[in-house]
Amino acid sequence: MKLERSPFIVAAGDLSPGEHRDRTVRGHVEVELDGGRVDDDVEVIVRLTALADGVLAKGTGSFRATLICHRCLTEWEGQRSFEVLQVYQAAPDEDGRQLEADGSVDLEPVIHDEVVLDIPMAPLCRSDCRGLCAVCGTDLNTEPCSGHTDESDHPFAALRQLLDPQDT
Ligand SMILES: [Zn+2]
Ligand SMILES: [Zn+2]
Repeated sequence: MKLERSPFIVAAGDLSPGEHRDRTVRGHVEVELDGGRVDDDVEVIVRLTALADGVLAKGTGSFRATLICHRCLTEWEGQRSFEVLQVYQAAPDEDGRQLEADGSVDLEPVIHDEVVLDIPMAPLCRSDCRGLCAVCGTDLNTEPCSGHTDESDHPFAALRQLLDPQDT
């Protein structure tokens, strides 16, 4: 059985220095981070330009991500985008990536890295998100919490003891 060729691999071995090839590549990317997740097709419009000693990939990518508010845990979907600028070489220097044996370019690792970088570490649903009450879990954006003088008299505290009795 032959392994399916990645949709992110683009042939470039036939290009002479100075020539370029434009492609739109599309493939599935899955990423799970604290700030959000991606489980969607990523589309990248890329121009490959042959250099004397490699291939330059330059383009823009777009995808849909689900972001998770750092304070209130609300989730929302948004369209995201990123830039690709990467040199591929047969013998890569520290900024370069490895050309495939047939001279083609594998965009997958670059796209994966850019998607990960584009997801904020601590997204906020809005800049003044008030978050959740640390005691009762009330979403303080939608409901005021009257405050807790004694945590033990709250129904959530009793529930927490039931679920985890040794943590008292
Ligand atoms: Zn929020
Ligand atoms: Zn509360």
